[in-house]
Amino acid sequence: MSDILPERISIEGYTHKDMTVEKVPASCEFRPRDPHLVPAANRSVVVNPSRTCMPLGAIWAVMGLNRAIPFVQGAQGCTTYVRYTFARIFREPGSVATASFHEDAAVFGGRRNVVDGLRNLVVRYWPSVIGVVTTCSSEIIGDDMENFIKAAKKKLREEIGDERADGIEIVLINTPSFVGSQVEGYNRAAQSFVGSISRKTGKPSGKVNIIPGMIYPGDIREIKYILREMGIEPTVLFDISDTLDAPLHPPKSLPYYPAGGTTIEEIRGMGDATATFAIQTSAGEAGARLLEKKCGVQYLPGPMPVGVAHTDAFVTAVAQATGREIPRSVIDDRGRLVDTMADTLHYTMMGKVAVFGDPDTVIGLTRFVCELGMTPVAVMTGTGTKTFEDNINAILEEYRDIFVEEPKVFNNGDLFEFEEYLRGVKKLNLIIGHSKGVDIAAECGVPLIRAGFPIYDRFGYQKKSIVGYRGSELLLYEIVNTIMGHHYPAAQLEQ
Ligand code: SF4
Repeated sequence: MSDILPERISIEGYTHKDMTVEKVPASCEFRPRDPHLVPAANRSVVVNPSRTCMPLGAIWAVMGLNRAIPFVQGAQGCTTYVRYTFARIFREPGSVATASFHEDAAVFGGRRNVVDGLRNLVVRYWPSVIGVVTTCSSEIIGDDMENFIKAAKKKLREEIGDERADGIEIVLINTPSFVGSQVEGYNRAAQSFVGSISRKTGKPSGKVNIIPGMIYPGDIREIKYILREMGIEPTVLFDISDTLDAPLHPPKSLPYYPAGGTTIEEIRGMGDATATFAIQTSAGEAGARLLEKKCGVQYLPGPMPVGVAHTDAFVTAVAQATGREIPRSVIDDRGRLVDTMADTLHYTMMGKVAVFGDPDTVIGLTRFVCELGMTPVAVMTGTGTKTFEDNINAILEEYRDIFVEEPKVFNNGDLFEFEEYLRGVKKLNLIIGHSKGVDIAAECGVPLIRAGFPIYDRFGYQKKSIVGYRGSELLLYEIVNTIMGHHYPAAQLEQ
């Protein structure tokens, strides 16, 4: 053994045991949280956020278009982490291009990155649509994106000719992540695409526009099923059901694009539709309102159709806007849901549940758990909206007589304060929310029903539906089976 190397480094290197470090607490006393710093509103940092960054919502939207690729005007990390998130949720390959910002772009701006980047993307992948998604850095630098895109189009025309260059739609979506979450990113994507592509020809198409928001392929299929049963052909703006849940076939040509997704012609035709429904109001309303202003297409806001009352509201609004009858098959679906609710009421009645996630999903789920006779003891959204509290309070007011405890509402909260609150709730039965609630559920000793964005720690959830009568029935089965299968402490069963 040489004098330089310590004696204990053997030829095999360090063993696992050598590397184990004994953890010593900083203090032997338990230090309770500073109560003033528990509410998110009192802190300047978010701890364990229940939201993610704005470009993710815009990228999600662009990936619901036919032959489309999002182009992220920012650093590689802003792209890689979104692709990683999508791969975990959808288990599908998804192409996202990046301007690949380095120090020079941060100092001199990202003009060269976007001009060269769009050129390379086009000549290699030949997309029909490119959604240019900005990021924190490009917005802070103050990139003049409209002029950059004009310069990129000029370069493309010179290289591939006017006809081919003009056949590619390049749409800018401004997503400075410091002013909103993924929900607002999706909302802005709807606004940008409708604003730059939709047209009114004066010939009504009789179709109905659906802006689904950040719901899963299974949910979109359920919405389409209801509309088709009513004899209505929908245009789904950002239809991820066939792009992020595409069948596996050998590619007929390269570069590969899945067959599905909303086409440019369909977006153009949205201006001639009868009405636009934003299934998730906060992720779609901007597009629906703009279409109403621009083309006179009636806008009908959510609520997200989860449970009986909200699905009734959706189906009735569609029937009234289009003059169509609600068919027997849809009425029967409703009857089956109500039947299941009656069959399972003794499992759900007087149960305590905590709900968290994106605002519209939480509003839909809260109404549904109230319909099941449960008390939503804590309701939290990580993306605050002006209307969230009013919407939740209106639902709570309606069901207050059956509650076993006063509910607590968190608008723009985080999972830290949510967990701290739940630790004080006695005999909690369930938490309903996305995958980031796993540890909280484990800490509280209750099961987590996965619903909403993101779900990355289970297979197949992107194919499941929680909307419509049929989706709600499946969600109810999961709630009841989870309650039946969970080992609650004896004291909890005595309530
Ligand atoms: S928050 Fe900003 S810097 Fe971070 S990944 Fe999102 S866009 Fe990029």
